[in-house]
Amino acid sequence: MDLLKEKIKESGKVIGSNILKVDSFINHQIDTKLLDEIGRFIASKFQNVTKIVTIETSGIAFACAVARYYDFAPVVFAKKTKSATTSNDVYETSVYSFTKKQTFNVSIDKRFLNDYDRILIIDDFLADGNAALGLIDLVNQAKASVVGIGVVIEKGFQPGHQKLVDLGYHVEACATVLKLENGSVTLK
Ligand code: 5GP
Repeated sequence: MDLLKEKIKESGKVIGSNILKVDSFINHQIDTKLLDEIGRFIASKFQNVTKIVTIETSGIAFACAVARYYDFAPVVFAKKTKSATTSNDVYETSVYSFTKKQTFNVSIDKRFLNDYDRILIIDDFLADGNAALGLIDLVNQAKASVVGIGVVIEKGFQPGHQKLVDLGYHVEACATVLKLENGSVTLK
């Protein structure tokens, strides 16, 4: 996706050797024209989706941008925290966060995943694949099926994409980062 690649080149910031900071257009401030294009691009890659599943927080906007192309399918986001309003009847799994270096329990209320659902998993980044694998686990617990995994940016030098493909999943990314080195980004 050319617009995304331009944005990454222009405004992405490299932190160390493996983190790309894109808070001026994806993770904090959101470029809504780009959001719209990302939604269209990801939706062009997957068919027969009845529901979108993501993880809070950054995946939510992108999941909604994708959902409109499936007749405004519902978006369900896995929650990282429990509150007074959280149901106890949940599918739950643990996910190691690449950026926070911490393991979280994430959950989805059982009412929002059904065995007949055909789920498209969406996230902002794919790195080691832990977030995606956690969401797949939740979908499997509900006996729903995974149509595929769509991400905004994947880091091709980390194993997430290959892990998911080896498990038989269809994975699509809007942009692939091949290398982060000396403050500069190499894109596929
Ligand atoms: P994974 O679970 O695939 O290792 O990492 C994906 C999750 O970690 C995403 O949900 C994303 O929030 C975060 N993440 C991983 N790598 C990066 C990165 O380079 N930049 C940012 N902003 N987030 C990342």
